[in-house]
Amino acid sequence: MSAPAAHGRVLPTLNEDGSRNWLRPKPAAGRWWRRRRTVAYALMVLFLALPHLTVNGMPAVLLDLPRREFTILGTIFLPTDTLLLMLLLASCLIAIIVFSALFGRVWCGWACPQTVYMEWVFRPLERWIEGGRSGSLGIDRRHAYVHPRRLVKYAVYAAISLVLAHTFLAYFVGVAAIEQWVRLSPYEHPVPFVVMAVTTGLVFHDFTFFREQTCVIACPYGRMQSALLDRQSLVVAYDRARGEPRAHAESARTHRPANAGDCIACNACVTTCPTGIDIRNGLQMECIHCTQCMDACDQIMARVGKPPGLIRYSSQAILAGEPRHLLRLRVVLYPLAFAIAFGGFLYALSTRSHADVTLLRGTAAPFTVEPDGRVANQVRVKIANRSRRERSYAITVVGAEGGQVIAPESPLTVKAGEQRTTSVFVLLPRTAFINGRRDVQVSISDGDDFAGTFAFNLLGPAGDGGGR
Ligand code: SF4
Ligand code: SF4
Repeated sequence: MSAPAAHGRVLPTLNEDGSRNWLRPKPAAGRWWRRRRTVAYALMVLFLALPHLTVNGMPAVLLDLPRREFTILGTIFLPTDTLLLMLLLASCLIAIIVFSALFGRVWCGWACPQTVYMEWVFRPLERWIEGGRSGSLGIDRRHAYVHPRRLVKYAVYAAISLVLAHTFLAYFVGVAAIEQWVRLSPYEHPVPFVVMAVTTGLVFHDFTFFREQTCVIACPYGRMQSALLDRQSLVVAYDRARGEPRAHAESARTHRPANAGDCIACNACVTTCPTGIDIRNGLQMECIHCTQCMDACDQIMARVGKPPGLIRYSSQAILAGEPRHLLRLRVVLYPLAFAIAFGGFLYALSTRSHADVTLLRGTAAPFTVEPDGRVANQVRVKIANRSRRERSYAITVVGAEGGQVIAPESPLTVKAGEQRTTSVFVLLPRTAFINGRRDVQVSISDGDDFAGTFAFNLLGPAGDGGGR
């Protein structure tokens, strides 16, 4: 039973009966296409190379989620760096908002991995393997999904998805771990194998089947654009005043109406659109500002002897004949917010110490009373070494005079970017405690550029009370 036909506009990826409308956009090579291709190739090289690069002996990027430790450009961020990470995330978010307010969806059309790989890897391969756009459309029309060419395409897509998934996961586990997993049997590392298989499957599904629907349906950034853009923002737009009323190419050549606009209704801008929309209908959420319609239309304009730019980068205000306002409230406030967030991040980063120290009580009883009557406190010292080299931290306790301090692991050696916990035992006579408390200072120093003193309350029997 077929679905009831929809009334009005439906998603460009859907037919009116609800079935999938497979988009096979026709490439339009022009000046914008060449510029985007250069950017796309550079980004692909960067994506593949980054996990292999190091900065000062540390990974350029390593987002170690299980250990909750992020390394970015050789700088280590630990779970205790909440403020730093918050400021960094806020800076990125505000930067996206500023960028969108000024330049619209330039990110989507030029730099988003979905667009970069779809338009510069997967679609070109599809056209090459299936015999061009007409070959793909022919297979679609015949519903010949097990066509030999399409099966070859799936195999090539699967291989590329495997490479992309391995590279993507290298950002989270490091290249060394990936290389080790690749050499081992799946039985020896079942969990990483499943993670890799699922990631590869998701990449394959996205670029093979889901495709432009990621931009049209799933991406939250696309949904937010109406809030981020204003009438002065840079957008890819059709110059309605110049293009309308449309006159078909034939009529334009023979009996062109006197009031005809420059649009010859050739639909080249629609057939090249990777999200299947008609830019002449105005700014739409599905438009990823990829500039393909600009190139397609410029080629048509050249053929009919008209100047280029019927579809061009502009703003809604300019096209409506309104004055241009470069200085708007949002382009003042957003950069200000960015400067505050990013400035705060840089300040916090530059004043951050090389080590992060946490003092904790023993995990069993708060204190114990030894057979000789002395009160013993266990102090657990956790030291995170944020620096780029191994360090040894000497641990001393000040304020325990008359007692005994046992620090079996002082100095405590901690590798770069790692954290370790050791225990220090402080034994004091019962008389050293007032109302069951004794304040001491735990001093930690690496003998170089880190030294810190941290207050700690030892606990003991209150009044005549005993331990345990
Ligand atoms: S490509 Fe240009 S001329 Fe052709 S339909 Fe689109 S806007 Fe009109
Ligand atoms: S309308 Fe033009 S800029 Fe927008 S997605 Fe389609 S081809 Fe790209």
